[in-house]
Amino acid sequence: MHRRTLLAAGTAAGLTPLMTTLAESASVAALSPLKKSPRMPVLFVGHGSPMNALGDNEYRRSWQALGAEFGAKYPRPQMVLCISAHWLTQGWWLTGMDLPRTIHDFGGFPQELFDQQYPAPGAPAEAKAISAAIKSPPVGLDLREWGFDHGTWSVLKPMFPSADIPVVQLSMDYSRPPAEHFALGQQLARFRELGVLIVGSGNIVHNLRATRRDASPIQAYDWAIEFDRKVAGQIESGDLAALPDFRKLGAVAQMAHPTWDHYLPLLHAAGAVGPKEPMRFFNSNYQSASISMRSVVWG
Ligand code: ZN
Repeated sequence: MHRRTLLAAGTAAGLTPLMTTLAESASVAALSPLKKSPRMPVLFVGHGSPMNALGDNEYRRSWQALGAEFGAKYPRPQMVLCISAHWLTQGWWLTGMDLPRTIHDFGGFPQELFDQQYPAPGAPAEAKAISAAIKSPPVGLDLREWGFDHGTWSVLKPMFPSADIPVVQLSMDYSRPPAEHFALGQQLARFRELGVLIVGSGNIVHNLRATRRDASPIQAYDWAIEFDRKVAGQIESGDLAALPDFRKLGAVAQMAHPTWDHYLPLLHAAGAVGPKEPMRFFNSNYQSASISMRSVVWG
């Protein structure tokens, strides 16, 4: 799945004439489409199997419950900015189209999963403003290549089923080091006070080569448990700046992430978190023994 995503992203990156980079040309005045709001929380959501989007399961239930807190405990977002493990590119891109398509970026699943649509609108003006406000690295606007991949829609469809909150996806430049992903997250922090709900969608442990379908939600490999607990400890203690250095955890990090795509969205989310913000975990268990579903709400 990941290799194919990367190849697809490489193809997209080769089509840069279809896209436009506005980072240097627009001014901060272009932020006007975003209105001041109470500070939005930041989410990191473990998405796991695309099948979690269907039927009654504990993950989907918790996404539904969390979504219901917006407009009640939390302000209703003006838009969602989602960083999904499944959009890897050369350079960094924001979806800039009016009506992003729903992408079924997987194979071997029932037709019902391919029939799923998430018709939330895009937010072209807001994406343009965010692109303009981030000076480094340049963040371009993707006008026709991407849309909502399953890292985004499988989580947001249960969370915001009316699909009436605009959604923009931000890609990740997989060629860049983890620290740069965290640093980009830091630049996203200001948008939280402009009604933007930042959602990182990946998994704190993600090794598809080691999945065991017969495992219960509390069963996992020792290396998966060790890595998950170490990262959870850093999050709990507020040592978010340590998260980009996950490879220092050695062999367990290598096992937890043979590739980093599902870890990097955590860095974007954590980068947008301020000092001493309250946090809570949810879905703190495992899927197929080698995927941590641990998810975080900050703020
Ligand atoms: Zn995934």
